[in-house]
Amino acid sequence: MLTVHAFITVICTSGVLNLYLCLYVFVKRYNYTNIANFFVLYSAFITIYCFASAFCLMATTLEQIKFWTIIEYIGMPFSPPLGLMFIMHYLGMKITRKLGIFLITIPSISLLMVATNDLHHLHYRVFEIDPALGAPYIHQEIGIWYMFHGVFTFACMFVAFLLLLSHWKETAKIYRLQIFSLICGQFFPMLTAFIYLLGYTPPGFDPVPMVLWLSSLLYLWSISSSRMFTLMPIAKDTIFNSIKDGVIVLDESYRLIEFNQACKSMFPKMNKLLFGMDFEKIWFILTSGDTFPLKLDNSESTCEIELAIDHSKHIYQVRASSLHHANIKGVLIIFTDITELKRLQVKLEHLAYHDELTQIYNRRAFFEKCEKEFPLAKEGSLPFTIILMDIDHFKRVNDTYGHHIGDQLLKHVVRACQTQLKEGTLFARYGGEEFVLALKGTVSEAESLANQLCRYIETQALSTAAEVISVTISCGVSEAIIGIGETLYQLLHKADEALYSAKRAGRNQVHVYKESAPTILERPI
Ligand code: GH3
Ligand code: MG
Ligand code: MG
Repeated sequence: MLTVHAFITVICTSGVLNLYLCLYVFVKRYNYTNIANFFVLYSAFITIYCFASAFCLMATTLEQIKFWTIIEYIGMPFSPPLGLMFIMHYLGMKITRKLGIFLITIPSISLLMVATNDLHHLHYRVFEIDPALGAPYIHQEIGIWYMFHGVFTFACMFVAFLLLLSHWKETAKIYRLQIFSLICGQFFPMLTAFIYLLGYTPPGFDPVPMVLWLSSLLYLWSISSSRMFTLMPIAKDTIFNSIKDGVIVLDESYRLIEFNQACKSMFPKMNKLLFGMDFEKIWFILTSGDTFPLKLDNSESTCEIELAIDHSKHIYQVRASSLHHANIKGVLIIFTDITELKRLQVKLEHLAYHDELTQIYNRRAFFEKCEKEFPLAKEGSLPFTIILMDIDHFKRVNDTYGHHIGDQLLKHVVRACQTQLKEGTLFARYGGEEFVLALKGTVSEAESLANQLCRYIETQALSTAAEVISVTISCGVSEAIIGIGETLYQLLHKADEALYSAKRAGRNQVHVYKESAPTILERPI
């Protein structure tokens, strides 16, 4: 009887401690994150479990024992799944609706089974006062559902325990005490339950509530001294992992200490086994042989890299900066996906520098490029020539066939010209039906190219659904005179004069601007 009293005392201690914990967290729940709600429920169910099992031990008749066992089952089967949900929440894991329902359904069935056991004996095949020891000791033989319930209860505790263990390594040192107390808080009842299920505990009663006071004390300590619920790894983890940028943290010796979820999707080979490894080595593994493009010293540095993710190329901006916080030193590396930005930038650049209709360079691009190349040619005393090209009687095409056909003809002439040009020749739409070419070559080379274009275009009629349209072009060629400080505009003006001369001379021909030539006609404005 003395032992029973000792058991009751210990179990009641567990109950009181859990009740205190439950009320303490309940009252202060507004100061905590919503994880406290899980904990309140968890400790409330454990409290019911403890007190009911204490009353069970005080019972003197089978009826009383049965009654308190049912009450015990209001608490006991629910506490391990609630504990599991609490731990999952603590570790920042998502509890799906399905999982939540499953975790609550099984204990509900267990409660129902115990309450109605006399009708079916599926939970306890035999449940009677131990003939040798007498009340409150029970002789029980377990039924099918009891086995199911036992495995489920133990599995919940075991999974919670394993989850905590698996997070140990990646948990920052300041949270380790919290995790440690939770691991122990799960481990003691789990071990006791395991021994009990194996049948190695004193017969006749459930020993688990007797160790629950130890778990409660550990939790109480965690909540009050290590500020569990207000300062949790989950908060950090959730924020850290919800960052869209890839983040890598290195210690002062450039060894990997942390990476976030986004980083994992950028580098599929990134995993926790790489913790503690030198980052240069890790980068070599991640990129299959590259060296990290930035220096990992104290300076802030940035670069762009290209990575293939899910078979599509992504461009990342990589920023490395040093971390100095209190006595913690390290390096922070951030990867920002700028693929879309780059794509837009390329698109905008294309729009800004290309003619929408013909897709060749526009006037702006021509001037920007020439303003770089012309001075270089002048510096190197190299020949530099301009060909201005204009479609003859283009207005007639528009007037006869319509603007749409005019557009088609413009594209057609451009494509035809492109077939005659060497790669890299600067060819742009100067305006309307006028085009310009800049060549790093002599005037005779330019003249022969212009003639080649003239001869070619006249043979390249455009076949539309209704018509075959032939056009010709006229060209004006001018060469920069070395050493007189001629500007690009003067050079273009000369080419324009030559073009006008070609038009006046009957079109479909090339004229070269000659400084002394009296034949040059002033173009009326
Ligand atoms: P010339 O032989 O003297 O050059 O005669 P032309 O008719 O080609 O020259 P003009 O300058 O009189 O007419 C050029 C025409 O080109 C007028 C304009 O409507 C047309 N044009 C300019 N840009 C475009 C364009 O983008 N699409 C179409 N379809 N027509 C254009
Ligand atoms: Mg024209
Ligand atoms: Mg014109």
